Amino acid sequence: MGVLIVGSIAYDSVASPAGTVERALGGSATYGGLSCRFLQRHLTGHETGLVGVVGKDFAEQDRQILASAGLDLEGLETADGETFRWEGAYHGTMAEAETKATHLNVFEHFQPAVPASWQQPNVVFCANLHPSLQQQVLDQTRAGRLTMLDSMNLWITIAKPALIEVMRAVDLIIINDGEARMLSEDENLVRAMHALARETDTNTLIVKRGEHGVLALHEGTLLALPAVPTAHVVDPTGCGDTFAGALAAHLASGTGPLSTDELRTGLMTATVLASFTLEAFGTTALRELDGPSFEQRLEAYRSMLGH
Ligand code: AMP
Repeated sequence: MGVLIVGSIAYDSVASPAGTVERALGGSATYGGLSCRFLQRHLTGHETGLVGVVGKDFAEQDRQILASAGLDLEGLETADGETFRWEGAYHGTMAEAETKATHLNVFEHFQPAVPASWQQPNVVFCANLHPSLQQQVLDQTRAGRLTMLDSMNLWITIAKPALIEVMRAVDLIIINDGEARMLSEDENLVRAMHALARETDTNTLIVKRGEHGVLALHEGTLLALPAVPTAHVVDPTGCGDTFAGALAAHLASGTGPLSTDELRTGLMTATVLASFTLEAFGTTALRELDGPSFEQRLEAYRSMLGH
């Protein structure tokens, strides 16, 4: 089995300088899952299973979006109540989302149950979600290759001890630069990364820096990659999840210990796929992307780096 993802399935309302969207299909597991499936269809051929919860209001056409991407939805529960809602806004350079409202709804009482057929995937990816729910999924699975997680500032503020505990339990951590500084209480990003890697005893720490690209600390080696330069930013929501889902797909197709070269290739693939997500509201750009357009941008990115 390929990748198991646990995370949010959401209805997002987003305002950016490019316009607004109401009640669009979103959530960390949605973006992560669609991204993972895109790469699996075009590059690796593995599978992805989703663990999460939606409410009775979840539209059939949105379920179809997930199913037609080839996501295995056996672990997607439908509970009494409403689907998770997130409202956010972007200003200026759109570097960071301002959270206007979070309605946990069905996530408030969610107890993730990993289907028996998904308890031994190659990669377990805990997308952004309450750290104790991420922990529950880790407790029910045994990853063939590695475990990884993504998080957000909300959990650092309200659940830091649980977050540190689950970070200690995974092989690879993805966060953004502001969160790394917040966690380590150090403004210098490289110092903050070394401190966090030590505190969580992690082999691989990946820090997303928005339009400034990505920094990774892998077994003491630092990697730095730029973002794909773009003049066309509509809605950055889900970029981080797209990035992480792509990396999960890439890592699930490998074997043995993670090498620096494999990580670099994965980060490049993830960076390029994430660059599509911000070109339209919601999941539209990711869903409409075709293989040749992706390959073309990946090639242009490689040559920009001199590869
Ligand atoms: P990103 O822009 O990649 O950091 O992720 C944005 C996505 O995360 C949106 O689709 C939201 O629905 C989802 N999201 C926002 N807040 C939370 C939260 N507290 N827990 C889980 N998912 C969230």
